[in-house]
Amino acid sequence: MNAPHSKFEWFFEVLGSGTSQGVPVVGCACAVCASTNPKDRRLRSSFFVQKGQTRVLVDAGPDLRQQLLRSAIHDLDAVLITHEHQDHTAGLDELRAINFIQGHAIPIYCTEQVENRLREQYSYIFKNSDYPGIPQIHFVCLPEEKFQIGEMEIEPLKLWHANLPVTAFRFGPLAYLTDVNAIPENAFPQLQNLEVLILNALRQKAHHSHFTLEEAIAIADKLQVPQLYATHISHQMGLHESIEKNLAPGRNLAFDGLKIQL
Ligand SMILES: [Zn+2]
Ligand SMILES: [Zn+2]
Ligand SMILES: [Zn+2]
Repeated sequence: MNAPHSKFEWFFEVLGSGTSQGVPVVGCACAVCASTNPKDRRLRSSFFVQKGQTRVLVDAGPDLRQQLLRSAIHDLDAVLITHEHQDHTAGLDELRAINFIQGHAIPIYCTEQVENRLREQYSYIFKNSDYPGIPQIHFVCLPEEKFQIGEMEIEPLKLWHANLPVTAFRFGPLAYLTDVNAIPENAFPQLQNLEVLILNALRQKAHHSHFTLEEAIAIADKLQVPQLYATHISHQMGLHESIEKNLAPGRNLAFDGLKIQL
């Protein structure tokens, strides 16, 4: 967490750097899944951002409980959802723990399409049921332009995950883009002068809805971002250490627990 008199304004933590199955994959005996390097253990994608006293979570996947415990996150001002896939939304119920501490509902920022999907997926929360201990959440329609949550200014970006719209977010000097395989030309101006880009890169081989490592690096190079961290990584990427050895300075793989201060 940010120290009160830190020279940094922003604190970021990658809570999960893995693709939808996580790493290791259940039942897989490949070298990556068998690795004892903690950087080869990847929970499902999630990202934590703090500025001053404002704390925001990006995505609430199936590993959320473990992630909140591991990073001692007890307080959230909002949750931003990038898109409706299960590996980004299956942990919504775990927000109950935060509700119990805070004693009020958590705002969930998402598009109307994502909201509709979540209302179906979590019908017990929304159908006015007497189901005990339901999470207290309320939807906020994601603004099209820059918006403010507490002390944080957030800029949404509209991108594509094959034919599914995905929202990415810029937080001051850092942008977090996951589950993307196309960045429209009109989004590039929003990605100028970044210090850090976190961008999904599933593996080295092409994929229909995710960038490869090579594609992610090409985008970081095009944007001249000093630091790229690739995320949403599959066991097919290879061992963290062997991949890192061949990357240029400022081009790295993210890992669970990666902390960035800017
Ligand atoms: Zn995903
Ligand atoms: Zn494996
Ligand atoms: Zn996805």
